[in-house]
Amino acid sequence: MKDNILNLAGYQISHLIKRSEISEKEVFSFFYRRIENIDKKLKSFVEVYHPPLYYQGDSSLKGLPIAIKDNICIYGKRITCASKILSSHIAVYDATVIKRLKKAGLAIVGTTNMDEFAFGSSTENSCYGPTRNPWDLEMVPGGSSGGSAAAVACRLVPFALGSDTGGSIRQPASFCGVVGFKPTYGRVSRFGLVAFGSSLDQIGPITTNFSDCAHILNIICGFDEFDSTTSKKPVPDFTKVLNSPIEGIKIGLPKEYFGKGLDNEVEKSILDLISVFKKLGVKFKEISLPHTDYAVATYYIIAPSEASSNLQRFDGIRYGLRLGDDLMSIYKRTRKEGFGEEAKRRIFIGTYSLSSGYYEDYYLRAAKVRTLIKKDFEDVFKEVDVILTPTSPTPAFKLGEKSKDPLSMYLSDIYTISVNLAGLCAVSFPCGFSLQGLPIGAQLIGRAFDEETLIKLGSAVEKETDYHQRIPPIGVD
Ligand code: GLN
Repeated sequence: MKDNILNLAGYQISHLIKRSEISEKEVFSFFYRRIENIDKKLKSFVEVYHPPLYYQGDSSLKGLPIAIKDNICIYGKRITCASKILSSHIAVYDATVIKRLKKAGLAIVGTTNMDEFAFGSSTENSCYGPTRNPWDLEMVPGGSSGGSAAAVACRLVPFALGSDTGGSIRQPASFCGVVGFKPTYGRVSRFGLVAFGSSLDQIGPITTNFSDCAHILNIICGFDEFDSTTSKKPVPDFTKVLNSPIEGIKIGLPKEYFGKGLDNEVEKSILDLISVFKKLGVKFKEISLPHTDYAVATYYIIAPSEASSNLQRFDGIRYGLRLGDDLMSIYKRTRKEGFGEEAKRRIFIGTYSLSSGYYEDYYLRAAKVRTLIKKDFEDVFKEVDVILTPTSPTPAFKLGEKSKDPLSMYLSDIYTISVNLAGLCAVSFPCGFSLQGLPIGAQLIGRAFDEETLIKLGSAVEKETDYHQRIPPIGVD
């Protein structure tokens, strides 16, 4: 039975617990043993809780462990955002998503590594050092939720939470071969998520399959009085669409996403996926999102602007690290020594774009282009139900390969960023492997609040392929 756990989805394990075919204790020791043996090499966790944080709740996932990205507040626990400036900070309340997980009877087993304050695409910008890609330890796991994605890929936990501001759930999910879902802006409460770009951030699940993804979304989605940007729209039962037919659904293929810079093997996997969808009766149409070329530039004005403003609170007075002895020297030394290089770069860019005299040329202009990007999607969604793209132009790259060249790092988000600018939902899921043995991810983008169609399509295609069942070749010694 224990060997079986490895190949079961989370909701299936929970089912076995309920039928007393396996005990919660056995499940915990199975996953803890994997963490203990495998995470030495992977470094996906920042902190592992012994015992886990566990409350008597109930749901279809009761009794299962979950890991949380280290930028989501867990009452009484260290929350560091992988930054030196917060390394001693203890959360004084639970994020809404944490409250909901506890109520659902999940057990929080620890926090996962990330790029500092979620700035990055490789999990190399962490004060704890990088997490490694489970399929090849010399490669990055993607970022910024790289710890969560790597941990789930290796089955150190059945699922984890990440956050996505410009691709940080989807891109690491794609690099690690798992399912990463970014819900529509306003679908999941951001209360208790350390803010990066408040108009872009969303929390979402990273799982090995679409069923678990639907179960987690059922738990975390919905209006929250502590986050005024959450929507009052009713939350459907996402598990209801898991076995629905997908015949007749219309998918758009944006021509701008299949051009220069797209790796051949990634393109081939997407084409294979298209054939699977066609066999299931899905219709395809070429579409155009004409402002795609401006997305990265627009994002890298808006996101740092919001970040620079959100990071002002880390001043050495209220949170974590404090260096220096009078007010000015506390501000200066704490921020100089507490923030890493990428965080400082974002603060500089953001402060500059928001400063008087430059605001109109940078922030305001970016805000206008953002509206055009959003409109591209609105137009296209009149003709198609969903959009299919690669998640990332390439499979995982080497550790150190892009860390000295921020621009090339930024460009790796080219297919994920527009979704956040437009406030839509999107998911990345495995659709192939490169010859080198690295996972390749596909992205489905949906209309705002139409998570169901993504789950419908993803779960249907998952039954036709076995990519999500493959487990990285790192064994328990
Ligand atoms: N990689 C992007 C960035 O560095 C997105 C990060 C994210 O989604 N948190 O900003």
